[in-house]
Amino acid sequence: IYAKVEKGPAIEVFALTQAFKDDSNQNKVNLSVGAYRTDAGVPWVLPVVRKTEIAIASDESVNHEYLPVTGLDPFTSAATELVLGADSIAIKENRAFGVQTISGTGALRVAAEFLHTQLNRNEVFYSNPTWENHHKIFSDTGFTSLHSYRYWDQSKRQLDFNGMLADLDQAPPGAVIILHACAHNPTGIDPTQEQWKQIADLMEHKKLFPLFDSAYQGFASGDPDRDAWAVRYFVSRGFELLTCQSFAKNFGLYCERAGNLTVVQQHASTKAAVHSQLTLIIRGMYSNPPAYGARIVSAVLNNPALRQEWMDCIKQMSSRIREMRSLLRDKLVALGTPGNWDHIVNQIGMFSYTGLNENQVRYLIKEHHIYLLKTGRINMCGLNTGNIEYVAKAIHAAVTA
Ligand code: PLP
Repeated sequence: IYAKVEKGPAIEVFALTQAFKDDSNQNKVNLSVGAYRTDAGVPWVLPVVRKTEIAIASDESVNHEYLPVTGLDPFTSAATELVLGADSIAIKENRAFGVQTISGTGALRVAAEFLHTQLNRNEVFYSNPTWENHHKIFSDTGFTSLHSYRYWDQSKRQLDFNGMLADLDQAPPGAVIILHACAHNPTGIDPTQEQWKQIADLMEHKKLFPLFDSAYQGFASGDPDRDAWAVRYFVSRGFELLTCQSFAKNFGLYCERAGNLTVVQQHASTKAAVHSQLTLIIRGMYSNPPAYGARIVSAVLNNPALRQEWMDCIKQMSSRIREMRSLLRDKLVALGTPGNWDHIVNQIGMFSYTGLNENQVRYLIKEHHIYLLKTGRINMCGLNTGNIEYVAKAIHAAVTA
């Protein structure tokens, strides 16, 4: 029965992590996987998360009954408020609500299913490049018209804004446009506020549907309000939209799959129907979401003191990343590595699109045991004060080889 199944292609990021694990070289560095590491190079359980876990584990009233299909209400309301803002007009007018999802990926999958089956959308545009799963999620859902819009100018190592606008201008009315809310993956380059305004003008004029992917709120700049600026701006303009939130990076809850799909509508009256259809979609996919991560996020966001501790944690993570950006740029400049490396400090969030080409990437892996994606994307969190000198010298060697 199974003999005709063909082996599928490896998923690059997981294959690299396996190759890294199998590598016995002492100097090896993993710059591929999208997870935070401390300066000691290890995963970090946020202290406020650990504390909350302990409190939940010792709370006798907590049990393991099923959650409702659309999740834990205090979690979805706190998540919705985190992304839209406490003073959001859409929340005040009861035009916004959230449903819990299996992290950011699950939010995207549920959103895609809803757009496809309920709103008859079949056309989606994502940036070139983008997080590679965007294509797969929408194509697996049944979207047959999948396009990319220009985003990265490889020669200038910056946003190709004119190209982006020109491509969005070609999108037909009703097309779904995936926008990274902040800390664009993989380039680390976001539009400026002025550019977001122009994107909104065009999307309003062309009647395009915004789907925000918000995987890095707070993790990017250390300020959740700042990182949600684009989403809130679109809401203030009166757009109906969806936002897919992940709590993997900003709470360090990668494996716990805590996510939220926020729906912003023009009229509160559509909520009952939309909510019911999302409920049916989730029911058919996985019935109901896991509770563990959502309980932690909910306990933290709904308690002012714990929330403040979380704010301190995201500041710590984002400033360590910024520090690594400056250090790497400074070291490359000091080494006299050919090229301009300012883009490393101008980018934001977990990733940097270094501009290294495939040959240089292969060289880094083979000769220096430094693992990164073939596009030249590196996870800044894989750098630390112990390995940055080694990595900078290796990049210098790769560029000058
Ligand atoms: N969207 C983007 C742009 C991402 O970078 C990621 C994770 O790397 C996700 C969504 C989904 O993450 P998760 O499903 O782990 O929450």
